[in-house]
Parts: sequence; structure tokens; C-alpha cells
Amino acid sequence: MQRKDVVIIGLGWTGSILAMELAQEGLDIVALERGPMRRTNPDFRYPINTDELTHAHYFTLMQRPRESTLTMRHTPDQLALPYRRLGSFLPGHGVGGAGVHWNGQNWRPEAAEFRLHSYVTETFGADIIPEDMQIQDWGVTYDELEPHFDRWERLIGCTGIAGNLNG
Ligand SMILES: Cc1cc2nc3c(=O)[nH]c(=O)nc-3n(C[C@H](O)[C@H](O)[C@H](O)COP(=O)(O)OP(=O)(O)OC[C@H]3O[C@@H](n4cnc5c(N)ncnc54)[C@H](O)[C@@H]3O)c2cc1C
Repeated sequence: MQRKDVVIIGLGWTGSILAMELAQEGLDIVALERGPMRRTNPDFRYPINTDELTHAHYFTLMQRPRESTLTMRHTPDQLALPYRRLGSFLPGHGVGGAGVHWNGQNWRPEAAEFRLHSYVTETFGADIIPEDMQIQDWGVTYDELEPHFDRWERLIGCTGIAGNLNG
């Protein structure tokens, strides 16, 4: 293969955003993606896109645990065992990754969430935090990240009216 400036492994959300940014800087890029390439037509053409058995039960768009999984234990002295069925989170599989089927919901965190230790201490007093609770401030503030939230929202075409609507 011809020599490239950049190799991206996994062309999901992060990979494709990086690829776009780097391509705009003039770099020559190749992406290696484990899953299939899917196209709007025919892969997401009606009625294929509403096939509940394929998408919601067989998780065809998601990483299969038999290809790659992770282990988990409930207490430090348990033997860690592999997940055989993913549920609480579903890594994507194929070009576009989980960005292919995300729900299009977008949140901005509250400013207080970035300084949760300080906020709780100031509002309720330090005594309310149990000794073994690892609550911390993030080290970056909402204001520092705000331009990046704004850029992201423009990138994904975020629309709608922000805020609390009629309570
Ligand atoms: C059903 C669902 C709904 C969601 N809805 C929302 C939402 O409404 N709002 C929101 O903000 N987020 C949502 N998310 C989360 C969001 O889609 C993910 O956080 C985001 O896609 C993660 O990006 P990523 O680049 O980290 O991983 P992914 O997009 O999953 O990309 C990882 C890529 O790497 C590839 N890969 C993995 N291992 C290898 C390997 N060894 N070699 C080559 N390629 C490899 C995978 O095939 C995949 O394409 C949703 C997720 C799911 C599953």
C-alpha cells in the first residue's frame, strides 16, 4: 500500500471526526475499520431500517461479544468473567461506528457539574460527602469548554430550542 501520513484504526465517530480535521489540514489518511461499509441505499432503505429483529434483537450494527468483549466483576475478590451479552452500552461496528445509529440527542452539562466537589461543599457542607466517595472537580470549567460544545453542535447540525420549555 502507498505510504500515508496518518493511519486511523476504527472509523467510528472519533475516527471520522479526526480524519475530517486532518484531511482539511492536507494530510493523506487511510482508515482501517473492522466492521462493514454500509450505504444509505440499500442498507438503510425502508423497510430494512425498521427491521426490529435485526437491529434491536440481533444487534447487527453493534460489536459482538464473541469478536471482542470485556470482563467484569462486582467485588475485588470475584473472578472477572467476560460479558456474553452487551446491554448497558453498545459499541458500534462498521464504518461510522455507533454514530450510524445514535439517537441524535445532545446535552450540555451544567456549569456546577464541572466543579461538583466545590459545589456540594459550598451548598451542603463538606460533611455531607462520605469518606469513601471520590467526588472531585474536573479541573476544567464549563466556560473553558463552551467554545468546543458550540463547535460540536454546529458539526452535528444540532437544532431545537434550548432550555426549560413551559416547565
Ligand atoms: C443505540 C445508541 C444510541 C446512541 N445515542 C446517542 C445520543 O443520542 N447522543 C449521544 O451523544 N450519544 C449517543 N450514543 C453514543 C455515541 O454514538 C457514541 O458515544 C459514539 O459513537 C462513540 O464514538 P467512538 O468513536 O468512541 O466509538 P464508535 O463510534 O463505536 O467507533 C468505534 C469504531 O472502531 C471500530 N473498531 C473497534 N475495534 C477495532 C479494531 N480492532 N480494528 C478496527 N476497527 C475497530 C468499530 O467497528 C467502530 O466502527 C448512542 C450509542 C448507541 C449504541
